[in-house]
Amino acid sequence: VGSLVDAGSDPAHQVLRKTFGYDSFRGPQRDIVEQVISGGDALVLMPTGGGKSLCYQIPALVRPGVGVVVSPLIALMQDQVDALQAVGVRAGFLNSTQFPDERRTVEAQFVAGELDVLYLAPERLRLESTAQLLDRGKISVFAIDEAHCVSQWGHDFRPDYLGLSMLHERWPDVPRIALTATATEATRKEIAERLDLTRAKHFVASFDRPNIQYRIEAKNRPEHQLLAFIQSEHAGDAGIVYCLSRNSVEKTAAFLTANGVEAVPYHAGLDNRTRARNQARFLREDGLVVVATIAFGMGIDKPDVRFVAHLDLPKSVEGYYQETGRAGRDGLPSTAWMVYGLSDVVQQRKMIDSSDGDAMHRRQLQLHLDAMLALCETVQCRRVQLLAYFGQQGERCGNCDTCLNAPESWDGTVPAQKVLSTVLRLKRERGQSFGAGHIVDILVGKRNPKVEQHAHHELKVFGIGTELRDIEWRGVVRQLLAQGLLAVHGDYGVLTLTEASNQVLFEKREVMLRREPERAKAARTPKPA
Ligand code: ADP
Ligand code: ZN
Repeated sequence: VGSLVDAGSDPAHQVLRKTFGYDSFRGPQRDIVEQVISGGDALVLMPTGGGKSLCYQIPALVRPGVGVVVSPLIALMQDQVDALQAVGVRAGFLNSTQFPDERRTVEAQFVAGELDVLYLAPERLRLESTAQLLDRGKISVFAIDEAHCVSQWGHDFRPDYLGLSMLHERWPDVPRIALTATATEATRKEIAERLDLTRAKHFVASFDRPNIQYRIEAKNRPEHQLLAFIQSEHAGDAGIVYCLSRNSVEKTAAFLTANGVEAVPYHAGLDNRTRARNQARFLREDGLVVVATIAFGMGIDKPDVRFVAHLDLPKSVEGYYQETGRAGRDGLPSTAWMVYGLSDVVQQRKMIDSSDGDAMHRRQLQLHLDAMLALCETVQCRRVQLLAYFGQQGERCGNCDTCLNAPESWDGTVPAQKVLSTVLRLKRERGQSFGAGHIVDILVGKRNPKVEQHAHHELKVFGIGTELRDIEWRGVVRQLLAQGLLAVHGDYGVLTLTEASNQVLFEKREVMLRREPERAKAARTPKPA
């Protein structure tokens, strides 16, 4: 009873109700808001759609002065400011896209205390003129949005974020709140250290998104699989399809549209106007599909995205979680659907091999990829595995593909040995390395020109693998790569052995593989002995 009375007079709660029109705080919002209003620092880890914005907007409105929000999402600042102004909050932004006179107006408003919230691009804070400007006004709180951008090992590193530790040095009395949707325990520590937030209180919201169904399927004809998925489960729904390259974005958008699913492309190669138009259409129209590179969606607030589809493997579990998290913000059932295959592993390895940065950086990228592959290949509940990655516990969810249609695992030791010994023989006897396609051709005994040219039909291993089909062998190779029992290198994606391969070849190490659902079905039809 007491709390009801308190709620009425509590200024934070009043702002929540009167300004934003919500009845109650969600998850840890109340505690976070209280911490910051009372002048303390906070580090907030909350999934996309969890309601991070209110965590700094309410303190900005309750505390005297202007709340300064550092955000890398320049393209969204106008939208955020518009949304705040629509509910009567005095908001403005400063970034490089503005005309000088617009900028001067906002600066004057800030100094005069005529703003509640000011959005700032991180690069502006590098300018001494910006610091001087901030000195001339009163700041209520600093909010550092997308705080994981300070992590050098993360996928969104922004050098300008490293400079943000100066906020505390220069304005030690202003509370700071750092927010991110993507951080493992290690990244969280890194954020706290780099932003000089070691004394901040940590708030970790649950990462579970129960309304999202997670599904990962074997990739064979990605565009057709996607079309079938949309037509059978999400006809007329809004959705986001992620592809790795601009080229595949264009092709996929055209393919969907030609097949009756209206889709627009979004990638960094499009001119600003087209990009802005496609994004605006996606936000405004019902049931439009946007096909995009990962540049799309950071901070997009469209509640009724019914599906997120990946045609290419994300580089990390954080990326996957963030991208899939754009589905179902309204809490209604939604699907996170992905196809993934051997080519993804080869391609990602290639990108890591050719990436800038030192060995340690490449090692980090490899670890990110390994965790993503483990999620793809798991025979356990995807949600349990996903939550575990973020250090949270979950129970078998009953709403992911592995729960709904449990994949079997099977003893793949013999097929694994066949693949590995083929790779070994080529190396030992011929001094050669080849990609997966050729290795599979040798295993199934396909006498094609390349095989003949190299006289590989004379190898002892030629045709030793007729028990599996090509596509199944590719699945075996993919899983060996994912388990680190095989490695792939270079532009041609040649396969090589690893230390662990030797255990399989010479030390009787067993290899458990995941049976693809199609394979499980095929296995049920009786085969001639
Ligand atoms: P995030 O930044 O964490 O991705 P947002 O701050 O954009 O999430 O919030 C996601 C959605 O949830 C928004 O539509 C927001 O208005 C809504 N929301 C946030 N907090 C509450 C709340 N306490 N009650 C109801 N809706 C809320
Ligand atoms: Zn599950």
